[in-house]
Amino acid sequence: MQTIFAQSVPGRLGVVPKETEKKAGDMLPAGLLRSAAPALPELSELDVVRHYSRLSRLNYGVDSNFYPLGSCTMKYNPKFTESAAALREFAGSHPLLPQLEGGEAHSAGNLEALWLTENLLAEITGMKAFTLQPMAGAQGELTGILLIAAYHRARGNKKSRIICPDSAHGTNPASAALAGYEVVNIESKDGLIDPAALAEVLDDSVAGLMMTCPNTLGLFEKNLPEIVRLLRRVDALLYYDGANFNACMGRLRVGDVGFDVVHVNLHKTMATPHGGGGPGAGPVGVSERLLPFLPGPRVVRGQDGAFSLDYNLPQSIGRVAPFYGNFAVCLRALAYILRCGGEGLSRASDYAVLNANYIRARLHGQLEIPYDRLCMHEFVCSASPLGEWGVHALDIAKALLDKGFHAPTIYFPLIVKECLMIEPTETESKETLDAFCDALLLIIEKARKDPQSLRDAPLTLPVRRLDETRAARSMVLTEDLG
Ligand SMILES: *Cc1c(COP(=O)(O)O)cnc(C)c1O
Repeated sequence: MQTIFAQSVPGRLGVVPKETEKKAGDMLPAGLLRSAAPALPELSELDVVRHYSRLSRLNYGVDSNFYPLGSCTMKYNPKFTESAAALREFAGSHPLLPQLEGGEAHSAGNLEALWLTENLLAEITGMKAFTLQPMAGAQGELTGILLIAAYHRARGNKKSRIICPDSAHGTNPASAALAGYEVVNIESKDGLIDPAALAEVLDDSVAGLMMTCPNTLGLFEKNLPEIVRLLRRVDALLYYDGANFNACMGRLRVGDVGFDVVHVNLHKTMATPHGGGGPGAGPVGVSERLLPFLPGPRVVRGQDGAFSLDYNLPQSIGRVAPFYGNFAVCLRALAYILRCGGEGLSRASDYAVLNANYIRARLHGQLEIPYDRLCMHEFVCSASPLGEWGVHALDIAKALLDKGFHAPTIYFPLIVKECLMIEPTETESKETLDAFCDALLLIIEKARKDPQSLRDAPLTLPVRRLDETRAARSMVLTEDLG
């Protein structure tokens, strides 16, 4: 397919700009003016429409097909949340407004939306308060660890280590290391944190534990009270990676269990479409003990009900993002939470769990399922048995593309060989789940009869199997137009 530049024909016009009375030179200083016209492609309106329509059809997204990418929660995000975020009163307001004299009154609606979102997240998770600043889950983790560090500093604790189980998401140890901690890995037992292994590494140097629950195997940690008790003994704090919160909304309030910090990925759980690195938000909630250290400024509501920004936070870790975080992402979450209500959120989680268990049950006996018991919103299976025919998880993933499905996550978590991690989410119908299972079962059958066809997949897509290593090592990011 040609780039839009390659389709350019000199002199061809799409739009004719309106003549204006003022020339650019009347409005801009001479130093800012171009000396030559920009090198834009010259095309008709129809050329442009066809080009981008064609491109959009090459795209794969939840709006077109099923997307069971484990750990990512690629659910359908209802369109009304887009309209809410695009409301002129929100989208048109300038982020500097609240900082101007009298600006807080003029942005009262925005401040109230932020305040409400924070408070609803606090209610849903059982935490004391939230900051909306972090712009991704991983940034939420870093913020959370910096809060833990601030807590220990304030108490004069000498702490140098953070514990991460081997079933943690890779961002957990990365965030702890970025914050200057030594990362201690503990092996899980039967897919869960082993309290005995935890007790073994616990001493006064441990600042905290980072836990994903349900973990990356889709399993719920059974020993939460025991784990909390062990950590409290050495004044270590508990971090809850809430990226998998889609499995337990309305069913588990992590604050009630005793966690001190949690991040929630709004772009996974609460109505912001993602993939391809789009805007996200990883708000962080804290328990009472960490309240003084939250990033500032904080939105507060005065006795008279008026909203303002509080900059007077002497123990705050400071800003972790400009302005107030990804405002539009928070607005989508607010619209989603208000529309679902408590009952709707619980139902979303219930169906997410039911759908994952439905697929697990249909695949039972066909692929290896290392933890073949009730799972949460996702589960992990292994293509190891197909190794006999020289077929790997990668081949199954590629063959699924030919059948019109996005591949599940593969080769993650690292603790299961040849793994496929499947997360259907609550928004898919039984018909879609069945079609996916049928396709997967056909592929498994083919592994025995015609394994080469799977190793050749995908056969029907615009590009075949890519040399991903070479693509990463020798990147070509521009096109030579000469
Ligand atoms: C996605 C994910 C993260 C990281 O979140 P980002 O928003 O991608 O930075 C952390 N932990 C788990 C378990 C995740 O699934």
